[in-house]
Amino acid sequence: MSQARISRNTVVRFDYSLRDPGGELIDSSERDEPLTYLHGHGQIVPGLERALDGRGVGDTFDVVVAAAEGYGVYDPTRMVRVPRSEVPAGVQLAPGQPVQARDERGHVIDFVVAQVGETEVVLDGNHRLAGVDLHFHVDILEVRAATAEELAHGHAHGPGGHH
Ligand code: ZN
Repeated sequence: MSQARISRNTVVRFDYSLRDPGGELIDSSERDEPLTYLHGHGQIVPGLERALDGRGVGDTFDVVVAAAEGYGVYDPTRMVRVPRSEVPAGVQLAPGQPVQARDERGHVIDFVVAQVGETEVVLDGNHRLAGVDLHFHVDILEVRAATAEELAHGHAHGPGGHH
């Protein structure tokens, strides 16, 4: 078991911390529990999944994942201007406030209020980590073969995974 290597259809449990290029802590698994995922199914950002490939339990490493291989590059076309009257009631009109809106097909899109003008509001639909190079520190805790049920569902079960 301990020599199992991470490859497609293994389940991986790992601790991580994520910092921005300035060293600021963005996210960390230590606050709640290690992350568990099914490898090779695009459940974590592509650059991190690639960096984990072939590694095993006990491996500890640092990797810088470029924004394009992380949450994507910043896309200015995802900034939209809407009249203040079209902002749903109850949304606080202050920069940084989250807003959900629906597109023509009814899909929910997450925005953040970027600017508030007298008649218009600018909403930013980029992921909050778009354009940010991601500095990960990773400790691999467990690598095992996925169960038939996990493969059928396309995700990991158990602590840190789906239940
Ligand atoms: Zn499931």
